[in-house]
Amino acid sequence: MPHKPTKRRSAADQDKIIVDALRGLGRPVSAYELIEEVRGHGVTAPPTVYRALQRLIDDGLAHRLESLNAFVACNHPHHAGKAVFAICDTCGTVAEFDSSAAIKNLQSWAKGAEFQVRSMTLELRGRCKSCVAADAVQTRA
Ligand SMILES: [Zn+2]
Ligand SMILES: [Zn+2]
Repeated sequence: MPHKPTKRRSAADQDKIIVDALRGLGRPVSAYELIEEVRGHGVTAPPTVYRALQRLIDDGLAHRLESLNAFVACNHPHHAGKAVFAICDTCGTVAEFDSSAAIKNLQSWAKGAEFQVRSMTLELRGRCKSCVAADAVQTRA
């Protein structure tokens, strides 16, 4: 027996379901994977998920990782400015951090070059500390 009659969920409800799903997954996921994840929570229409994702990104609660074409929950909802990501190619872990110095440098270059910045993507790809350590152990064995 359904515990609740079917009713339309508000945008705020949808956003909450989606950000909770992203946080629960704790790793970058494709929109497709996210749609599968929230299906059981009454959010089924892909356009609904895309709209909610856009709102979450605009509000700084989620980020889009361009190089992975994936979405991830924001690690620190109150950070100012743009986030920088370090993505481990081995285990998929994403570390989010602020680097206002790097961003200031890029902005001042753009200003000097009279380049109008539309978007800025700062993503480091490589291997995280634990994957490097695991590799070192394997090599020694
Ligand atoms: Zn963030
Ligand atoms: Zn790793």
